[in-house]
Amino acid sequence: MAKTISVIGAGSIGVSSALHLQQRGWQVTLIDRREPGQETSYGNAGIINSGSSIPLNNPGIHKSLPTYLKNKSPQLRYNIKHLIQNLPWAIQFLQNSKTTQALKSTAALNELTSRSLVEHKAFMQNAGNMHRLKELGWLRLFRSGNSYNPDSFEAQNHKLYGIPGSVLSADEIHDLEPSLKPIYESGYLLEGAASINNPGALVKEYAQKFVSDGGNLLQTNIKSLSVDGNHIECLTDNGPHTCEKLVIAAGPWSNDLLAMLNYRVPLNVERGYHMHFNLPEDTVLNRPLHDVQRGFIMCPMEMGVRVTSGVELNNRDAPPNYAQLEQVKPFIKEAIKLGDATNDPIWMGRRPTLPDSKPVIGQAPKHSNVFMAFGHQHIGLMTGPITGRLIAEQISGESNDIDMSAFAPERYVRFEGRRKPIWQM
Ligand SMILES: Cc1cc2nc3c(=O)[nH]c(=O)nc-3n(C[C@H](O)[C@H](O)[C@H](O)COP(=O)(O)OP(=O)(O)OC[C@H]3O[C@@H](n4cnc5c(N)ncnc54)[C@H](O)[C@@H]3O)c2cc1C
Repeated sequence: MAKTISVIGAGSIGVSSALHLQQRGWQVTLIDRREPGQETSYGNAGIINSGSSIPLNNPGIHKSLPTYLKNKSPQLRYNIKHLIQNLPWAIQFLQNSKTTQALKSTAALNELTSRSLVEHKAFMQNAGNMHRLKELGWLRLFRSGNSYNPDSFEAQNHKLYGIPGSVLSADEIHDLEPSLKPIYESGYLLEGAASINNPGALVKEYAQKFVSDGGNLLQTNIKSLSVDGNHIECLTDNGPHTCEKLVIAAGPWSNDLLAMLNYRVPLNVERGYHMHFNLPEDTVLNRPLHDVQRGFIMCPMEMGVRVTSGVELNNRDAPPNYAQLEQVKPFIKEAIKLGDATNDPIWMGRRPTLPDSKPVIGQAPKHSNVFMAFGHQHIGLMTGPITGRLIAEQISGESNDIDMSAFAPERYVRFEGRRKPIWQM
């Protein structure tokens, strides 16, 4: 009889987990209230870069803190009430930016990012969507008054992990991207980086492959979860769904699902936005670019040019605040000739982030049949397939070739015991 398992969340992480489990002979049910790849995994910048192992909370953040505290920066803004309510998270996040901790997080994340491209390529070959991938690198660009700093924490770690890159002059930038206006005095090309021309479609196509190979896709909302020995019951909008094993891969909503099993986890979100512009016929953008000083990323996509914003620390469910996107709009026009915004709505997403910027990948502390894979902050599109492999290997009793203690749920996931009914308190 086939081994059965359910996965909650059909984003990059859940779809990848479902595919890897399926490849290992599991009969998998993938559950999401939306179509696959329509939440955080839809609207990101689509970059796959082994050098993205450097967490945002690295020693470099200390220099920028006085600017960030003014709360006017396109790179990082915060809602003060949210920050106060989440002070323990904010303090731990900053503590993890100290050199020793940041080096540890970088080393662990490098195990994921360095395997991302090869794992995606294997999925793309199976799903027949290799055309979504471009391997032309990722540009970091500097206007006057700044340039690539070879002594930065990031640069030093890129050197340590052999991340290929080269410093560019203004002329070299022009050779790579002739449509850019001559405002950038220098740049840095992350040569090994790749990009995806439609991240949402990529994940959706992976899910279609999962279904065509016999996987079961269930579009419904999970309202509650309970575990009784080997029996897991998910109460959905369409009635109960039972399974023997479960993977929680619900991105920024994973803490809600874990709370149903009486786990607490300090999962916060770094909100981010995107909008799409048409490019005039005489203008081409070949690869993603990051305007370091002005704090935006611009990437060529199937649907036009996608501009993504920096980080907003705010409540996951608070209404969108488009201030950072509004702030960068004039700067984008300084960089390239843009057409109008497309008809696509401005998008808001929530990067799920734990205080040490590492995801949780592994077995639930108190339930041997519940597994979790979430908290992939800025790198969850690229690290989906490798995360899927690691969790599927664990569940299937195979050994991982990565030290998984760095991603152990026990770091943050606390079991608070079964709550007594109110009449027993
Ligand atoms: C602006 C921005 C730019 C980014 N750029 C990049 C980048 O260039 N490269 C990169 O690798 N990453 C990038 N990221 C990060 C990346 O998008 C995320 O880390 C990743 O998408 C997280 O994937 P996930 O599968 O964990 O979550 P999601 O994609 O959010 O999937 C979780 C799923 O769970 C489902 N779900 C939740 N609760 C329930 C429930 N109760 N019942 C049923 N279903 C439920 C949701 O509907 C959702 O589909 C960026 C993020 C942002 C915001």
